[in-house]
Amino acid sequence: MTTRTVTLIHTGGTLGMGPAEDTCLAPGPSLDRILDQVPELRELATLRMVVAFNQDSATTEPEDILLLARLIRSEAAVSDGVVLIHGTDTMAYTASVLGFLLADLGKPVVLTGSQRPLAYVRSDARGNLVDAVTLAARGVAEVGICFGDHWLRGVAADKVSVHRYEAFESPNLPPLAELGLHVQIHPHAGAFPLQVPPAIGPVLESRLAVYSPFPGMPWRLPNPDCAGVLIRAYGAGNLPMDRPDLRDLFLHCERRGLPVVVTSQCASGGVDLGTYDLGRQAQGLGAISGGRHTPWAALAKLSLALGAGFSVGEIRHAFATSWAGEPV
Ligand code: ASP
Repeated sequence: MTTRTVTLIHTGGTLGMGPAEDTCLAPGPSLDRILDQVPELRELATLRMVVAFNQDSATTEPEDILLLARLIRSEAAVSDGVVLIHGTDTMAYTASVLGFLLADLGKPVVLTGSQRPLAYVRSDARGNLVDAVTLAARGVAEVGICFGDHWLRGVAADKVSVHRYEAFESPNLPPLAELGLHVQIHPHAGAFPLQVPPAIGPVLESRLAVYSPFPGMPWRLPNPDCAGVLIRAYGAGNLPMDRPDLRDLFLHCERRGLPVVVTSQCASGGVDLGTYDLGRQAQGLGAISGGRHTPWAALAKLSLALGAGFSVGEIRHAFATSWAGEPV
């Protein structure tokens, strides 16, 4: 009999869904009976079950994630690791926020879910749950997404497929673990310098303007109550700097003291504003390079930094610094 204790926290997502109306999926009864459906989980650890909420993750609000951060901290005090069952749609954002807020936890936090509900034949839920509990019982202190055959660092991961069972990737960081015939945990798992600024607290500023440019897009000024801007630029960080409306946007943000963070529309690689003349022009107007941050890690970092009252200069420094093992 194992002596490890793992807390399973249910938040919803496809894993626990059932049919609604005719064929569409909606949250079903919460997973009270998960141990009846996957009894082998008991062979891996002593389990504590907590239902935080039961929703499609597309409805996730910042307060939900902050509640989870508090819940995980209190559960980690009485267990060896935590598994978070979460919908895939916003899992990468939740994993990014939790990756920063719980970087000092010292215990595994394993997010998982599935593409097909647990109750359906050929579901990926059973395997993902078994792998997630296995990882949570191993003691490697990471906040990561366990899905398909891999465990990925949360602050480096993104959803890349709506149908493949290998639904997540971390394009700029090798997986933390491979889950095949054997569980192979790589040496960089749990090994990252902990540099989350102490001022970061449980406040997520969500009044952000996010732009995803395309040729011809009108550059409208952000709303008066906007606290920060994120632009998902082309390739290495290029933007149409010949556009007066875009230049106006940069000048407007500079006047108002709003940070303008530039990430890339490309998943792999990152922003280097020095590569092209256009990137340099954006830099000259105050653009902050998002480097190799995923869109979710960039949003999480910007929201937490603004929530902590960081200045534009401090946010610039934050994006040049890996807080919790995220590629920068
Ligand atoms: N819409 C679902 C959710 O994110 C998708 C999933 O879980 O795969 O809750």
